[in-house]
Amino acid sequence: MDSDSYRHRGQRRALAAELRRKGIHDEQVLTAMLAVPRHQFFDPAFQAHAYQDKAFPIGEGQTISQPYTVAYQTQLLRLAPTDRVLEIGTGSGYQCCVLLQLTSQVFSIEYNQVLFERTRRRLATMHQPAHLFCGDGSLGLPAHAPFDKILVTAGSPTIPRPLLRQLRVGGALVIPVGDAQSQRMLRVVRESEEEFVREEFETFRFVPLLGRAGWEG
Ligand code: SAM
Repeated sequence: MDSDSYRHRGQRRALAAELRRKGIHDEQVLTAMLAVPRHQFFDPAFQAHAYQDKAFPIGEGQTISQPYTVAYQTQLLRLAPTDRVLEIGTGSGYQCCVLLQLTSQVFSIEYNQVLFERTRRRLATMHQPAHLFCGDGSLGLPAHAPFDKILVTAGSPTIPRPLLRQLRVGGALVIPVGDAQSQRMLRVVRESEEEFVREEFETFRFVPLLGRAGWEG
């Protein structure tokens, strides 16, 4: 794994400044982005591009999200240090490590077995204490629910009901919902056992959320 050099840290400072210009204002989120060496989540062929504000391939037809998207979703979560968070779509593990800068209780689930194994090894090497699972995250992680926050990093056709049920009252789900071309970022807060309040934000383009409560349902 490539070490984290002075040059990489300078590139992260430039990236954080770019994210601030684009509207990311939460200083804790920007500090988290400064701390995580994004180049260590890249295939060697793409490492030189790690600090561009772009999504890149990670194999298996999947991508590491654009830094702006990672910062945007993390900002919407409004994490407290004691929050239990579930991420759906571990991918490279980068977003997971950004979350670990802000809370110690991060659960993350990945559908693709090859990516899961690769990322499990990567995070172990990096001594990142996330709880990683392989399976259909559109159904959540019922054995470990409830969660204070749930983050979906793939585009869903609808809001999966199992995820709403696994939110603690007062908790929030951040999820992009739409068709294959574009998805609206939603923040859904569980106000009570039966009441959910939803806010809509910018439009993005994500890879599809597969699984029974995603595009395969
Ligand atoms: N958060 C990731 C990162 O930091 O690299 C990027 C995620 S990538 C945009 C979306 C990921 O969601 C892919 O790795 C894909 O395999 C995964 N995915 C798609 N459907 C899923 C499902 N039902 N359950 C869990 N993961 C899923």
